[in-house]
Amino acid sequence: MSYSYEAPVSQALFDRASIVTPGGVNSPVRAFRAVGGTPRFMVSGDGPYLTDADGRDYVDLVCSWGPMILGHARPEVIEAVQAAVARGTSFGTPGEGEVALAEEIVARVAPVEQVRLVSSGTEATMSAIRLARGFTGCAKIVKFAGCYHGHVDALLAAAGSGVATFGLPDTPGVTGAQAGDTVVLPYNDLDAVRAAFAAHPGEIACVITEASPGNMGVVPPRDGFNAGLKALCAQDGALYISDEVMTGFRTSKAGWYGIDGVAPDLMTFGKVMGGGFPAAAFGGRADVMAHLAPAGPVYQAGTLSGNPVATAAGLAQLRLLDDAAYAKVDAVSAEIRGLVSDALGKEGVAHRVQTAGNMFSVFFTADEVRDYEDAKRQEAFRFTAFFHSMLADGVYLPPSAFESWFVSTAHDDRAVERVAAALPAAARAAAEATESGVNA
Ligand code: PLP
Repeated sequence: MSYSYEAPVSQALFDRASIVTPGGVNSPVRAFRAVGGTPRFMVSGDGPYLTDADGRDYVDLVCSWGPMILGHARPEVIEAVQAAVARGTSFGTPGEGEVALAEEIVARVAPVEQVRLVSSGTEATMSAIRLARGFTGCAKIVKFAGCYHGHVDALLAAAGSGVATFGLPDTPGVTGAQAGDTVVLPYNDLDAVRAAFAAHPGEIACVITEASPGNMGVVPPRDGFNAGLKALCAQDGALYISDEVMTGFRTSKAGWYGIDGVAPDLMTFGKVMGGGFPAAAFGGRADVMAHLAPAGPVYQAGTLSGNPVATAAGLAQLRLLDDAAYAKVDAVSAEIRGLVSDALGKEGVAHRVQTAGNMFSVFFTADEVRDYEDAKRQEAFRFTAFFHSMLADGVYLPPSAFESWFVSTAHDDRAVERVAAALPAAARAAAEATESGVNA
């Protein structure tokens, strides 16, 4: 497959990278394998724009997969980072910044009485599961097909995100022992959860779910689903873990919890709370968190946990995220969703724009998408054509049909107009796409 536009500097960097790094990237979805073509190597970001190594700029609708909710290089965040860096980059001791960030999280999200900072969402979910197992004394965990919780061995069964992109049912390197206690159920299906508890009474440590999934595309929970999970967990003595790495501090001040109000026992966070740096967290009920070392026996640690630069960035970002900021992100999201739907509708392309707060994605199917099986039924080849047309016209979308799109407070009228200008041709490309390829 070839494309009608070139990115020679990115291609040269990709060639160099492919010699020293597997697949040329440090996280699989960045390699563009789902859509083909040359991954763009970015050199700078400014507000809603990214500039690549060939000097082309793009309206960014990925926002670093969620974190950059204030846009790129927001001056107040950059200043906080510069001030922190000037004081030193890591001490390996406690510091005030991590206390302030923990206080901010506890103040925003009522079910979080105590929180532990880590460096990635993967660490957060891995640690939350260990804690749930240590607290309950049970081994089994329940997860949902299409939900991605990072590359934790036990959670890579039927995961979304990059795993969905590549259609891998499972990952070599994860042993039967590591995944054997993981029960994978269809999303949005409370009967399946009831049946799992009936089959394994008193054996399930936790149910972990994305608060509102964004890793099989955006597939919100049906009314009562999260509340049902909480009730079923409580009945059996299992913990209900809500993974808010993606939704946390993005869909509202208190993330998805701020929208559905269902209080989990444990929650995981990442992305927005790090302000573009590696910071993540897990937290929840104080009696559960008390089982964590050094207060309790469940071990968990990290050399760079609570890093002063990352916590300064995260804190600066969270402090700027007031009601007005969320209203702005919600409004931009609604505007872009409407434009996308209009453009596809005009070309007669069957599609559904599904939303969860200000997160959204476009499925190339006429039917509602309620779980991973539904998501996989879409005509993903139309997304490929759509994606490349948008890219050629200066709009950077997630390079996979199984990912959420993200916007920021920095997406102003000029950025939205550029998206609007790119959409008619992209919709036409989607309409004309065939399964065998586009622009071939
Ligand atoms: N949980 C969810 C819901 C995510 O979306 C992700 C990453 O996209 C993770 C966990 C893993 O986070 P990280 O990539 O920081 O390890």
